[in-house]
Amino acid sequence: MQSSAIGLDGFDATSALHSNRVSDLSDVFCEPLAMTSAYTFGSAQEAAERFSGQQQGNVYSRFTNPTVQAFEGRVAALEQAEDAVAFASGMGAFTALCHGFLQQGDNIVCSRDVFGTTASAFSVYMARFGIEARFVDLTDLGQWQQAIDDKTRLVVLESPSNPLLKIGDIRAISLLAHAKDALVVVDNTLLTPVLQRPHSLGADLVIHSAGKYMDGQGRALAGVVTGSKSLMQVLRGVLRTLGISCSPFNAWLLLKSLETLEIRMLRVQQGALELAQWLGEQPLVSAVHYTGLAQHPQHALACRQQDGHGGLLSFEIFGGQAAAWQWIDQLQCVARCTNIGDTRSMVTHPASTTHGRLDAQARRHAGISDGLIRLCVGLERVSDIKADLQQAFDAVAYQPTVQAAQGRPRSVVANG
Ligand SMILES: *Cc1c(COP(=O)(O)O)cnc(C)c1O
Repeated sequence: MQSSAIGLDGFDATSALHSNRVSDLSDVFCEPLAMTSAYTFGSAQEAAERFSGQQQGNVYSRFTNPTVQAFEGRVAALEQAEDAVAFASGMGAFTALCHGFLQQGDNIVCSRDVFGTTASAFSVYMARFGIEARFVDLTDLGQWQQAIDDKTRLVVLESPSNPLLKIGDIRAISLLAHAKDALVVVDNTLLTPVLQRPHSLGADLVIHSAGKYMDGQGRALAGVVTGSKSLMQVLRGVLRTLGISCSPFNAWLLLKSLETLEIRMLRVQQGALELAQWLGEQPLVSAVHYTGLAQHPQHALACRQQDGHGGLLSFEIFGGQAAAWQWIDQLQCVARCTNIGDTRSMVTHPASTTHGRLDAQARRHAGISDGLIRLCVGLERVSDIKADLQQAFDAVAYQPTVQAAQGRPRSVVANG
């Protein structure tokens, strides 16, 4: 056996690298996965023209990748926007928004009920760069109006909110923001474009944590923002310079997931409505929060600006944390998991998990009671989910007083 310094002479190492390159995938039916960091150029001049932007084409996967672009284009189509930019995660997308549109001295006006990490990104990290975050009640237009001023650059809301399902009037808030030339950002993670299209209500930028309902299978992190070509151009600049790029592999998973988005959303919301109604009749339940219930205080607004109510609901159990934990620990089919938007049903106890870092007073202020339980409905047979919830209720030792049970509203109470 002959061998050179490194490698065997009998083995064609060059062929391992260069032979049989795949050059055309245009007829494959499933989108191909461009798992590549770099691209080849036909000539030195072509490389120069691609870098300068004179010639369209790929340069480097931090900011151009065919699979990621396919995902972006598809999300833009679904949100009825001109363009979209994908990022590594939902928080990566928020980070890019901040770097793209804010500078020292600006302020962000944001609803208090946004995803906790979004609030921290603004109040902790952006504050370091001299950007003020002002938090307002999602449902109180007077507070929005008061907080938005000439220095407001971004107006951020999440509607419906999680876990209390409060609704922000996107059209009215957009009018207030646009009067001061601020950009309106709507986090549409919970409803997806199937059930709500915020651009049609006035939002300039729509953002998604794409690993939630968009993937819908709990497999991948990604974020995506949609909007006009010129706003997306700003975000592409951020992407090119600061990174936070979406993996082509995750974009490829997401492309497939989007094909079934509508049918999944319709199915989970059907289950959520049935379970919300059923939960309202359980003796141990003191309140149900779901905008699909006619008794929800903002049911009419939700019906006006949404095409459905989604798969997430929350309810409050008599007996506080002890009863909530006992009930949760009893579940057999429904998973104890703090994620949302999976194919499988999941429950969370917000007071001790997602909102556990708030002190008791701040939690009360946010409407997160010790007996609050969030249920994200999956694709199981609804009768099986119901049976699981029922056997958990049967096992809870706490008995509400007769007065408490009689004072309980039939199906829902005012949220917040
Ligand atoms: C999860 C989530 C985020 C953050 O997204 P990541 O992909 O986890 O970074 C933002 N907004 C909402 C509504 C979320 O549920």
